[in-house]
Amino acid sequence: MTKLLPRGCELCLKGAKLVLFITGLCDHWCYYCPLGETRKGRDVVYADEILVEKDLDIILEGRAIDAEGTGITGGDPLIRLNRTLKYIQMLKDFFGEGHHIHLYTNGMYASRDTLARLKEAGLDEIRFHVTESNREKIRNAKILGLCTGAEVPAIPGEERQLRDLVLYLRQIGADFLNINQLEFTPQNAYQLKERGFELEGSVAAKGSEEVAQSVIQWAESEGIDLPIHYCSSSVKDKLQLRMRLLRRLKNVIRPYEEITDDGLIGKFLVTPKTVSPSELRRMLMLELGIPPHMSGVSFDGQSLVIHRKFLESVLKIYPHSREVYVKEYPTGIRERVAEIPLRY
Ligand code: SF4
Repeated sequence: MTKLLPRGCELCLKGAKLVLFITGLCDHWCYYCPLGETRKGRDVVYADEILVEKDLDIILEGRAIDAEGTGITGGDPLIRLNRTLKYIQMLKDFFGEGHHIHLYTNGMYASRDTLARLKEAGLDEIRFHVTESNREKIRNAKILGLCTGAEVPAIPGEERQLRDLVLYLRQIGADFLNINQLEFTPQNAYQLKERGFELEGSVAAKGSEEVAQSVIQWAESEGIDLPIHYCSSSVKDKLQLRMRLLRRLKNVIRPYEEITDDGLIGKFLVTPKTVSPSELRRMLMLELGIPPHMSGVSFDGQSLVIHRKFLESVLKIYPHSREVYVKEYPTGIRERVAEIPLRY
């Protein structure tokens, strides 16, 4: 990394950035596109992991992570320009002018008029997934006064193209270049392998990091003062995501759940055999005086969720049940990562 990080990256590393996926539509068709099948080519909106059905879903997810900013991505958000403009204005109205918004686009539809409308709506920063044909768009965004940069993967064998890009960005006075590690995903693995790329570790493409580091060292040795930042797949997964989930955790945990040592949500599920979970919950309140906020009913309606300190008492008055301890990610969809049977 050299020099100042863009504000969008600063917030992302703190886990303070809401990721707003505007649409899975994109006319670029990069062979290394990492989008999964639930998103690629589909006109859907996600706020972090939550499928957005109404605008309020976006606000609630922003609140859940105490968002200080939003990164708008896709697909190409500019294919759905009106939607993008509406959400920029909505986020600024709700979270305030200081809520930093950056947008990532391949630039195909970034006309001067579009860029001006984005700026007027409140966009703070724009990042181009740049190609030879859209370089002019970066200059236009910069002239308009947006914080402007490029964001590209480090492709093994394409160091020269990356150096050319650095020189162009410096020439037009761009604000930054972000270089991402090229990653294998289930969707692009075939395409990457076809082109001779190899996997290194769990997701990284072999040689990608070396290309990025080499370009950064070259830029430094040439005295190029363009801020260049390298974002590895491990930083994305282990740092950004983990930080965001930790922020979310403290806001979404319920009084009868607990935080595990590994930063997950832990809880005890009691599945009664002869009564419904709601009936059992009522029994606990009436017979044992367990306060209502110390228990709940699971999302699937099949089990009672009970605070650790009341588990033994429950089993004494109601022994006909199955008990498990589960661990979940604190995301909107609460993916279950472990289920430990305690009693059948
Ligand atoms: S521009 Fe982005 S979303 Fe579009 S195909 Fe390329 S990587 Fe995928």
